[in-house]
Amino acid sequence: MALIVKKFGGTSLATVDLIKNLAKKVAKDVNDGNRVVVVVSAMGKTTNELISMARSLTSNPDQREMDMLLTAGERISMSLFSMALNSMNIKSYSFTGSQVGIITTSSHTNAKIITVKGERLLEALSNNIVPIVAGFQGISSTKEITTLGRGGSDTTAIALAAFLKADICEIYTDVDGVFKTDPRIVPNSKLLKRISYDEMLLMAYFGSKVLHPRSVEIAKKYKIPVVIKSSFNEGEGTMVTNMENIESTKVNSICVKDDLALVNLKTSEQNIVKLLKELNKDNLNIELFITKGFDNISLVVNQDSVNSLLSIIEKNYPSLPISANTDISLITFIGEGISEDRGITETILNMISKYENDVFGVVTNKISYTIITKKIYKEKIVKEAGEKFELTE
Ligand code: ASP
Ligand code: MG
Repeated sequence: MALIVKKFGGTSLATVDLIKNLAKKVAKDVNDGNRVVVVVSAMGKTTNELISMARSLTSNPDQREMDMLLTAGERISMSLFSMALNSMNIKSYSFTGSQVGIITTSSHTNAKIITVKGERLLEALSNNIVPIVAGFQGISSTKEITTLGRGGSDTTAIALAAFLKADICEIYTDVDGVFKTDPRIVPNSKLLKRISYDEMLLMAYFGSKVLHPRSVEIAKKYKIPVVIKSSFNEGEGTMVTNMENIESTKVNSICVKDDLALVNLKTSEQNIVKLLKELNKDNLNIELFITKGFDNISLVVNQDSVNSLLSIIEKNYPSLPISANTDISLITFIGEGISEDRGITETILNMISKYENDVFGVVTNKISYTIITKKIYKEKIVKEAGEKFELTE
């Protein structure tokens, strides 16, 4: 008998029939003697639809009202899921994030979980009631409803698994697991059977959308085994776990992050620290910053943030020379120890040397290389690398 947290994504819950099928699988787990907690996303594209309704009223919707609106999506799927289970004679209750005591910071639309109280969850489990919990939401200390950022249901699921000390957290999605490289670019990419928390964390930061990055941080911190599987196909999926005794060094995966811009500026030593402090105050989405000496800085930011970034720079330092390059991609090679492996390093460097003037930087740490390049080269580089490092079938 195990305690399992199962999270279902929006595509898996897109219709009432799909919900019914998933409820049957949960009923089987329960009838086999397991204790199950279900975490749901909103059905299909509900969250996107709610966002576009808000935007059709105003270009700058109030963030508090946005959270009230978006949390409604998960209420629909949680209650329907619970009804489906009850109709199969499995006792079930649905709960909002606030009802199960997911206490968050007060930053609307991007709140962080501070703690999980979980009283009603424990009570339900001890009464053999299957709790269906709305993902992606919580409540602040001032009793405001909050959301955890797009894709945040994964974080709800793994946080609940950590609170309950669950045996496993199963994330059900519309793909078979985590691929070794982006299947939109390399359709014959292999599936990863296992991946370490650190590698998964880098993948989530650098472009893989399979798991919400903060969910991986929690899984790593509390050592929660996580498996990512398809709700439509059978298969083992990808296991995210601690990996020990792995001696061979290889590039395990490559991921791509798009819709970025690169901003370069020259400044004095004093300015640079002041500027970084200034940027730190604002909620800008800075992916990377690279300083060359102390008078030359390059920032990789989301395209959405370029204008705010430029206006902060111009306001504080009106005469600095700035150049910006939009349509930037980051290509990240991931694998334990790869930066210390001479052969792998040479292969990567040989590959990018062909794009000499269009590779704007390489950032590395022990387990990854990230290349900053123009988006137009990403397909070529990723395809070539996928073959070189045997990430394809
Ligand atoms: N429904 C939310 C979203 O679409 C949360 C999630 O799916 O994880 O972002
Ligand atoms: Mg998701």
